[in-house]
Amino acid sequence: MQNDTDARLRRIRGSARPTRHNARTIAALTGNPGCSRRTIVDTAGVDKEKLARHIGFPSRFGQSEFAITRTNAFQTLLRADDYAELTRLLREVFPEAPEQIQYLDLEATDNTDAQDQRYARDQALISQAIAGNTGATLFDHPLLSLNVAGQNVYLEPELLVFQYGGSAYVVQVRSFAVIDGQANGENVGQAALQAAGYVLALRQTLGNPDAAPPEVLLICPKDFSNVPTITRLDIRWQLIAVEYQLDRLTHIDTLLDALPPHLNLDLGLDASGNPTRPATELIDALRHLPARYFPECLSNCDLAFFCRHEATGHTAALGRSVREELGGIETIAEVLGFAEGTVAPPEEWDEAAALLRGAAWLYAESVAAAAYSGESAALGPSRDSREPERGVS
Ligand code: SF4
Repeated sequence: MQNDTDARLRRIRGSARPTRHNARTIAALTGNPGCSRRTIVDTAGVDKEKLARHIGFPSRFGQSEFAITRTNAFQTLLRADDYAELTRLLREVFPEAPEQIQYLDLEATDNTDAQDQRYARDQALISQAIAGNTGATLFDHPLLSLNVAGQNVYLEPELLVFQYGGSAYVVQVRSFAVIDGQANGENVGQAALQAAGYVLALRQTLGNPDAAPPEVLLICPKDFSNVPTITRLDIRWQLIAVEYQLDRLTHIDTLLDALPPHLNLDLGLDASGNPTRPATELIDALRHLPARYFPECLSNCDLAFFCRHEATGHTAALGRSVREELGGIETIAEVLGFAEGTVAPPEEWDEAAALLRGAAWLYAESVAAAAYSGESAALGPSRDSREPERGVS
């Protein structure tokens, strides 16, 4: 069955190399678990950024060149001189750890066919270090696996794992600054959510939920310098949230079963890696994948501009809370029709339609009242409100 699913996902992706999941994609996926389009495209490893650009809806988010350069410089500094700075930071958190922390860089050459072997190797190395419970080891770029929608996917190995005392800790390096001991709450929240995906993957990879504690070692630049600082962050809440949302994803086989058998998103890449397939064909194929657009997609999914365009005229485009308040009425035209009484609501929307008519009446009354007071103000104070004229008895 797994082989059949793999084959179907390969067919959807076509000839391109698969893109891998990472902590950001897991966090984004669990932020919108009802979107089958994203689940299928991500699980198949389709390059969403390239796809969106080719069909004329390029994404406009991601790190600036400046931020990427700064992050790379910061990461290089941490790894310099045999991970000297990282060793110093880790020993700040674990003063009992040996002065010499072993390190293993598991970054592979660019060979996607060897993923399974590479995963097996990394899994064995970390498991052995934990079972041996000796010394301290830093694993750089380990390949982890996580079950997403019933399919085991590999996570882009952009993290560090520190084994000490029989436990494996996720180490996250971020480029946002900690100023006077405080960091931007939104940045910290996102880092914690992304780390939760890695901790779950680490637990799955090691086959032991107790092997990876519910915390992350977060390393950021201190104040306005490039000097790193380390913080232990409790991510119990984020682990519960991500695990719950992962459980809510529809199984990939169920999603694939609902698709036309020959549907694919093959970009038809040429020798230079440029898509050659007609954009209209890809748009037609995408329309077979049910989406669940919300404005939040704009900050975390490459397909957001395409999906927003498609959702024009739908209540979902106005935001999650509006859609929920409207009790599932799909289109803005229906909402206006119910509110104005020009469209007869089906029975299940009787109550919602009555509320909409009430809201429309209130709105019309408020506008009329505002217009009346505006006219009154233009004509000057009314006779009743005028001060009594002096000297008139
Ligand atoms: S942008 Fe589109 S594909 Fe991406 S999560 Fe939103 S609705 Fe789904």
